[in-house]
Amino acid sequence: MKNENEIIARDTASYLPVFARYPIVLDHGDGSYVWDVNGRKYLDALGGIAVNVLGHNYAPLVNAIAAQAARLIHVSNLYYTEAQADAAAKLSQLTAGGKVFFGNSGAEANEGAIKAARKYAHTISPDKSQIITALGSFHGRTLATLTATGQEKFHKGFEPLPGGFDYVPFNDIAALEAQMSENTAAVMLEPIQGEGGVRMPSDGYLKEVRELCDKHDALLIFDEIQTGMGRTGTFYAYEAQGVMPDVVTLAKGLAGGVPIGAFVVTEKVAVAFHAGDHGSTFGGNPLACAAANVVLDTIADETFLREVQSVGTYFKEALRGLQEKYPAHIREVRGTGLILGMEMQRNEDAAAIARRMLEQGVIINCTAGNVLRFIPSLIFSKTEVDELIAVLDRCILDICDRGGL
Ligand SMILES: *Cc1c(COP(=O)(O)O)cnc(C)c1O
Repeated sequence: MKNENEIIARDTASYLPVFARYPIVLDHGDGSYVWDVNGRKYLDALGGIAVNVLGHNYAPLVNAIAAQAARLIHVSNLYYTEAQADAAAKLSQLTAGGKVFFGNSGAEANEGAIKAARKYAHTISPDKSQIITALGSFHGRTLATLTATGQEKFHKGFEPLPGGFDYVPFNDIAALEAQMSENTAAVMLEPIQGEGGVRMPSDGYLKEVRELCDKHDALLIFDEIQTGMGRTGTFYAYEAQGVMPDVVTLAKGLAGGVPIGAFVVTEKVAVAFHAGDHGSTFGGNPLACAAANVVLDTIADETFLREVQSVGTYFKEALRGLQEKYPAHIREVRGTGLILGMEMQRNEDAAAIARRMLEQGVIINCTAGNVLRFIPSLIFSKTEVDELIAVLDRCILDICDRGGL
């Protein structure tokens, strides 16, 4: 058996201490379960932070990656590959015929979206450069995307930040209207704030944002890195809102765990770009695209998406059941499909609940202070929901009623 403590000590001695990691070493997985190096089994309701959309060790995905690796892993974007042409065509077709660019991560996808907004806006006026984002948002860790992120804790220590970013409260259309002018290049929003605590848009908000963008000839960018890829039961979360963005970004689940990011722009924005205007060495390489092709083929399917909705509804009702049982501990249950959040009352230690869940063999996480977040694989089953709810029920009792740990 591998020595867990030795591995943790070796990593800690060598790795930049930026992650507050849980003290387990994961070894392998299958479906909705992972096992640590001691052979302990865990139900995974975090899915690598909304990444492992087809679960672990999904045979068609594993086989496609192995087959592509044996042919070509990488060739650079100086050449065409069939895998990239397939992935781009599929994604374009799912995004109203838009033009696709592949990078390697969510931050890079958003960085590209911001560049696209500026590039397009500068065809109108050199002063048109303002990017407006929401407070409580999360858009990534590069300098531009951490600046776009409307949370001060991500900015601290990295100043000076790139200019041209302004923030408004999410769901406050009047505040947005007051910020916008002819110099607004884009409004960038998550249709549902993920890291910010699974915050839903209020009814009609995104439609009104669309109208304001049209009025000021500003682009609407949706960051669907967490909410896209079928997570809400439609391929994009924006589909349920009846609002079409000019630019949309994807990453996380797009290749089922192989690093990839993408931004997709409408034709109007695409024509602002010419050879040399943007690029990436790795982006959209055949290995990542072969994985993305399997994921896109599997998820962009009505039956698959209907099942996500069905399990999501079941999951949310079960969480609501717990809320009814423990109103003194649970403040609110939010979300749709398989992006669900349970906000604990302010005096409760939600992080301690997540830690206790792990001890009990269930992986979830705690975000935005006191919100338990559930973003499992999209093949999570109702039986697995039942298993999770039973453990969560016990852990809430343990932590909340006994005054924490
Ligand atoms: C995870 C996430 C990102 C950043 O993605 P990385 O791959 O970590 O760079 C950006 N936006 C949203 C909404 C995310 O959830």
